[in-house]
Amino acid sequence: MNDKIKNELQISVAGIRGIYPEYLTSEIVFNFGIIFGSFIKANEVFICSDTRISGQSLKDSAITGLLCSGKDVIDIGIAATPEIGYIIEKARREASAGIVITASHNPAEYNGIKFFSEKGTFLNAEEMGRMLDMYYKRAAVVSQEPGLLSFDDYTERYFNCIYNTVNIDAIRKKKFKVVVDVCQGVGALKTEEFLGEMGCEVVLINRDPLGVFSHNPEPLPENLKEISERVVKERADIGFAQDPDCDRLALICENGAIPGEEAVVVLAVRNILEYHKKGNVVVNLSTTMLVEDVAKSLGALVYRAKIGEVNVVEKMKETGAVIGGEGNGGVIFPEAHYGRDSFVGMALILEYLALRDTSISVVINEMPKYFILKEKITVSDKHKAGEILNTLEKTLKEKEQMNTEDGIKIIRADGWIHIRPSGTEPVIRVYAEAKSKDIARQYLSEFISLISS
Ligand code: MG
Repeated sequence: MNDKIKNELQISVAGIRGIYPEYLTSEIVFNFGIIFGSFIKANEVFICSDTRISGQSLKDSAITGLLCSGKDVIDIGIAATPEIGYIIEKARREASAGIVITASHNPAEYNGIKFFSEKGTFLNAEEMGRMLDMYYKRAAVVSQEPGLLSFDDYTERYFNCIYNTVNIDAIRKKKFKVVVDVCQGVGALKTEEFLGEMGCEVVLINRDPLGVFSHNPEPLPENLKEISERVVKERADIGFAQDPDCDRLALICENGAIPGEEAVVVLAVRNILEYHKKGNVVVNLSTTMLVEDVAKSLGALVYRAKIGEVNVVEKMKETGAVIGGEGNGGVIFPEAHYGRDSFVGMALILEYLALRDTSISVVINEMPKYFILKEKITVSDKHKAGEILNTLEKTLKEKEQMNTEDGIKIIRADGWIHIRPSGTEPVIRVYAEAKSKDIARQYLSEFISLISS
């Protein structure tokens, strides 16, 4: 692999991403297929792609690589990232692993690969490091006996697993009207069926043609104007937006208000602690402090994990958490499976509304307000970012209460500031949260000028 391609391919714990076909080529995906097949111990690998137009051809490249390594492959077609996690963890008796061809919430010209270990979760940093080492050393093992390819469809089993974790009768009785922006992603094929089974009247927007996203697919408030208007126009009870591979979720109130992605995990936490069972909660270091308010009022403890789904999952297992996730709209409910899942998120939020017998805007408005602001500072290279953070840590050590597990998180009485180098770009991310926008803004400018000096 030449250096140019290496620089433009984003490689991190979350997987591989790049623009197709300039940087993420069929050859690279084939190579990762054969390396992953050589790396894992399981004899079978589940594979799917999202709706991107490069999905089929890249999936075929990965399949060929896996078969060459001697692994059997089960192709489940176009499916959600969390479905693969569910299959490996819950549906199969034999050990299996998985690959998803997706660039998640990135624009349509990107594609990528996510790798699942035999645990049904993404490879962790150590596992990913070992696999990448094999990749760079070209340490693939070509088997004398290629694997076999078969096809299956797990959608029904996957949805049934989720239905079994909630009070589906309570949801059905409400006959919710739900608008979902599926942004031409996997949800275009699956979400109507999923919600319909729960008695919902479903309006999907941006469902066709597949893989040509009609807006930036990241479920951030600036990308949700269309669905916000549609929810009001349809007189719907709630709106949801899924990212193309369906692990992230945003919600929209019946009055068109967009509470932001952080609200999704907060509502899931409330539901589990109020109606399911008491227990620990795990979220990542950048998730809203509203989670602490909610958990405290319900007698639960919150643990914070490093950024990255697999880190949250590992901490959830370590602390026996009953619910967890990430503020970016990723709900993780172990009774379904250990992975961020927008279908699980929708089921838990609808169940909560049904059990509370109230509207989504009432639920949102009864909670304290917090403001999270996010900025990034571009630096010359990744080493520079590390140097800046080291200096900052030394300067602040005596003066501030902080957590240095993942970058630097400064905790103050009325909010926090989280500063961390990006895993994929020469960028330092600075997040600040406080009870007022002014304080959050003040935090941001204070630390941006500190970093810039
Ligand atoms: Mg995603």
